[in-house]
Amino acid sequence: MPLHDKFGRAITDLRISITDRCNYKCVYCRTGNEGALYGDLPFADYLRMARVLVGMGITKVRLTGGEPLLRNGVVDFVRELSRTRSSNHDPLDIALTTNGHLLADLAQPLKDAGLTRVTVSMDAVDPDRFARITRVQNGYDHVLAGIRAARRAGLWPLKVNCVLMRGFNEDQIIPFGMFAREEGVTVRFIEFMPLEEDRKWAPSTVVPLEEIVARMAEYRPLVEIPHARSETARRYRFEDGVGEIGIIAPVSHPFCGHCSRIRITSDGKIRTCLFSVWDHDLHAQMKRGATDEELAEFIRGVVMKKEERHHIGEPDFVPASRTMVHIGG
Ligand code: SAM
Repeated sequence: MPLHDKFGRAITDLRISITDRCNYKCVYCRTGNEGALYGDLPFADYLRMARVLVGMGITKVRLTGGEPLLRNGVVDFVRELSRTRSSNHDPLDIALTTNGHLLADLAQPLKDAGLTRVTVSMDAVDPDRFARITRVQNGYDHVLAGIRAARRAGLWPLKVNCVLMRGFNEDQIIPFGMFAREEGVTVRFIEFMPLEEDRKWAPSTVVPLEEIVARMAEYRPLVEIPHARSETARRYRFEDGVGEIGIIAPVSHPFCGHCSRIRITSDGKIRTCLFSVWDHDLHAQMKRGATDEELAEFIRGVVMKKEERHHIGEPDFVPASRTMVHIGG
């Protein structure tokens, strides 16, 4: 019986943060003063958690962080993970979310180890703006090289995610449209959510879906194409068929009703929602010697507590107990 929550949602998608450290200090995400706040676990522990969860119906595992490529041994971990088979022997879909800074040298080894696809976060296509956002000099060239190496390695589909913030980078919408067409990648714009370390979010900072579509149409019209129900992004093609754009709009068009995700933090806690105000210590269960069946029982109980929806922008909104960089986006 696949894993379901009490609202009938099937839980098929696992995200594991393999480190709380990050080499970028994106201004909308981190204060720039805090380093890692949480530890990480030996890969063998994440592997055991993933195997138990795959046995319960997880079909996709996304590695994230912090910055996952900072973790030594990530290629071997992907190789081990890719040997995990679901109960019907299907190979696991293994994805990675990265800032791309270290991807150029790792794309091919990761592909060879069994990584299926990659999403690169990139919030500007202008190198100076990119440096101001990430607070790292010359990062843009590394990331572009990483994207091109991922494409050469056949890590496909290749997605580039851009978080838009009003007054900050919404002028990058059209340049990103051009980038999608020139580089042959899917560019996905993400609405900014209240998950940053220094609580800058306000409704007015969000650039909503309709505005993104309208702005892009000034460059070239977009045609909406079908997306899977559980897919977070609405998908669009340019009218001439060249280039794909996605928009992830958790604020203006929430998709909680189709959420299929749970997350494991770098220190082994389960989070049932980005906006959870508590987490559930799976690693503590392992440390006290729980069997795989006991872990599965614990996970089933946790999943039953999955929140129905987020409350962004509502008067009763309570900030999440961890910010994005410490959860794993
Ligand atoms: N370091 C990796 C990376 O850059 O992709 C993985 C971790 S990062 C926290 C994951 C994603 O979360 C990035 O695409 C980042 O832009 C996004 N993110 C961070 N803070 C966010 C926020 N407040 N709202 C929406 N997305 C956010």
